[in-house]
Amino acid sequence: MADAAHRLAEVQANIAEAAQRAQRKTGDIRLIAVSKTHDADAIRPLIAAGQRDFGENRVQEAAAKWPELRAETPDVALHLIGQLQSNKAEEAVALFDAIHSVDRSSLVQALAKACTKAGRQPLMFVQVNVGDEEQKGGCGVADLPALLAEAKDAGLRIEGLMAIPPADVEPAPYFALLDELAERHDLPLRSMGMSGDYETAVMLGATHVRVGTALFGAR
Ligand SMILES: *Cc1c(COP(=O)(O)O)cnc(C)c1O
Repeated sequence: MADAAHRLAEVQANIAEAAQRAQRKTGDIRLIAVSKTHDADAIRPLIAAGQRDFGENRVQEAAAKWPELRAETPDVALHLIGQLQSNKAEEAVALFDAIHSVDRSSLVQALAKACTKAGRQPLMFVQVNVGDEEQKGGCGVADLPALLAEAKDAGLRIEGLMAIPPADVEPAPYFALLDELAERHDLPLRSMGMSGDYETAVMLGATHVRVGTALFGAR
C-alpha cells in the first residue's frame, strides 16, 4: 500500500516536472495506470492512493476484474489501450470510458453501431502506426485522413490520437509526429508515453500517458 502510494507520487511528480519544463499545465495531463495482468488486490492500493484512471489491453480481462472494483469505487475511469476485435465492440462500449485503439474501417463501423445502440459514446482515439511497423496495430499515417473522415460520416466522435512508437529507438520524433498529426486534424487529445518515456511524451504534448511498470512493478 505504502509502496503503491510512493510510486504514484513519484510518477506524478515526474509528470509535473516535465509539464513545468514544457510550460504546460499539469492538470492537462492525465495519468492512466496500466493494470493489465495485475489482479484486483494489486490495483486496490493505487485506488486507495487516489488514482482513478486505469488502462487494460483486453476486453475479457477487464470484464473479469473491473465490475467488482467499480462497485467499490464508482468514479474510476477505464481505458481500453489494446487492440479491439469488431465483434467485441458492444462489450467495449459498455465497459470502457475511453477507447484508444480505433484503427480501421471495420472497427469504426462496429463502434458507431455499438454507440448508437448503447446511447453512449466513450472517448475515442485513433491509434496511428507512427513507425510504419508491420506487426503493430494502428492505422497507417497515410490512411489517417480517410479513417477520420469515415468516423465522422459514421457519427463516431474522435477526440485524439494514440501511438506506441517502435521499441528500442528514440521515441521523441514519433511523439512529435503524433502531436503534429493531431494538430493538423484539429484533435485536442494525444495518448502517448509509457513507463520508459512518459516525461518525454509530456514535453511533446501528451494529454494521456499510459504507465504500467513504473506504478505496479514488472509484469
Ligand atoms: C502495457 C502497455 C503500456 C504500459 O507499458 P509500461 O511500459 O508497463 O508502462 C502502455 N501502452 C500500451 C498500449 C500497453 O499495452
